Amino acid sequence: MRRICSVFVAAAMLVAALCAVPGAAVKAEAAAGKLIAITFDDGPGPYTERLLDGLKARGVKATFFMLGSRAQSYSSTVARAYREGHQIANHSYDHPEMTSLSDQSVKNQIQSTNSYLTNACGGSGYFVRLPYGSGNSRVYSLVGAPIIFWSVDTRDWSVLNTSVVKSNILRDSFDGAIVLLHDLYSTSVDGALSAIDVLKNQGYEFVTVRELFRRRGRTMSNGSVYSSSKPNGTDLGPVQKPTVTDEAVDGALRITLKAQQGAAIYYTLDGSDPVSKGKKYTGPFTATTPCTIKAVAAFHLNGSRSDTLETAITTPTAATPVMEIENGMLTLTCKTAGAEIHYSTDGSAATMDSPLYQGPVFLAQGTAVSACAGGEGLLTGGVAWGAYSTRGNFIRDVLPNQWFYESVDVVLSQGVMSGTGNHCFEPRANLTRGQLVTILYNLSGMQAGEETLANLPFTDVKKERYYALPVAWSYEQKIVSGYSEQEFRPDRNITREEMSQILSAYLANRGIAAEEGALSFGDAEKISGWARSAVRQVCALGLFSGDEKGNFAPRANASRAEAASVMTKLCTLLGQL
Ligand code: ZN
Repeated sequence: MRRICSVFVAAAMLVAALCAVPGAAVKAEAAAGKLIAITFDDGPGPYTERLLDGLKARGVKATFFMLGSRAQSYSSTVARAYREGHQIANHSYDHPEMTSLSDQSVKNQIQSTNSYLTNACGGSGYFVRLPYGSGNSRVYSLVGAPIIFWSVDTRDWSVLNTSVVKSNILRDSFDGAIVLLHDLYSTSVDGALSAIDVLKNQGYEFVTVRELFRRRGRTMSNGSVYSSSKPNGTDLGPVQKPTVTDEAVDGALRITLKAQQGAAIYYTLDGSDPVSKGKKYTGPFTATTPCTIKAVAAFHLNGSRSDTLETAITTPTAATPVMEIENGMLTLTCKTAGAEIHYSTDGSAATMDSPLYQGPVFLAQGTAVSACAGGEGLLTGGVAWGAYSTRGNFIRDVLPNQWFYESVDVVLSQGVMSGTGNHCFEPRANLTRGQLVTILYNLSGMQAGEETLANLPFTDVKKERYYALPVAWSYEQKIVSGYSEQEFRPDRNITREEMSQILSAYLANRGIAAEEGALSFGDAEKISGWARSAVRQVCALGLFSGDEKGNFAPRANASRAEAASVMTKLCTLLGQL
């Protein structure tokens, strides 16, 4: 079935015979370590999982030259072989005689198989073995990968006998050999596993093809042909597992991973497999504990990597404290049992050196407070912040040193804008059309009746939503219009020029005459025609201004922080402060 051309068989057997002479064996024993690469072609098949079980039990790594057509039907087997450290390689899509194919067909055979292998296992860098060992310089140059032949031909596909396969392997193996087998046959699987036991007792170490060449310090190149790597006095040794060190720095756990020179490290922190799910390590990082670090060191994940390091770091990180304030009394809690809470009211970030929290604390208005938790057997967790304003608002995500703090405090106190829950304001969030009309409705102190709602033409404004009455009122007052006769798009972010247009209509509604100032913005020509007059008005009134580059940014979304700033100015203009 997998007949190879007779000339090549003869050549391979000659090589095998030469290397099996007693003198060669003695020399091999004297070298640093005897290495051998066992390879399986034409799979995966029904016996491959059993083979993988046997290799795993023996701690042996092999190389699988797979057919793309079979990798498709046995994708979980491909994934398992890769995960368990075997080298996955390419044996064409459906085993054609490559020399008879066009350039494009040769490339298709290789590339489609590479894709199926990657889909199955997530790997890369697949070496190639040509079907029947048949190739020429044209085919070699098209393959785009190192081309692997063999130096021990077991003829397993022909003999189909466990003990003959075993004895053929034992008869011809030598230090640096690449052994050809086929995992399509039960007799090949059993013969290989029996031979492995004997060879291990003789001191052989089983490595992937990639590792065989790395260990001997030999570089491999695309389009070159390799069939063995005999002892040359160099053995770089197996890829060492990475090492891990951890230390607490600024309350967090800092993790450092190290591998031998030239090896990359891939790791996970959630106990998942670092080969298929790992991130490449680029330097020390902080981790939330407890966590399980799994890491491998690799010269190449596909066939040249260490065993997996696994370390559980059990020191827990204390949770970030939760702040509550009622009538000026601050209460701090931490859900981590046994954690001490420390807090600061001087505007600095709390550390474990800050005062210990021992019960509710009275906060003067205008105080920024921070807190963190930690203590014996715990890593210090994150810092919680909050600001208790002179107007009595407690806000967790807006601090006194931010430009919009005062405005946010004003609009909250005036009931013009409300927070987003849990003492947050979300200043960076975009303002929506529904939110803007609700703000203007609040500012007017209007109470629209249900009958207003009945006249609303927009099908996307649901009557139970918070913005239903504000949209109905502002539509009736001609402050806003819809996107179409049926659509208002209440959840759409509002741009700065759209907001200007609505504010201009609102000012007219409130009887405020606005002059039209000059448009001196660098990007004035980008302001839409329909919005130009409105932008002139709102800028002349000082409600809006340009950014630090002198641009108006008409199409930029307005943020909730900007809205708070504009509304504070509008309140002043309306005499509502
Ligand atoms: Zn084959």
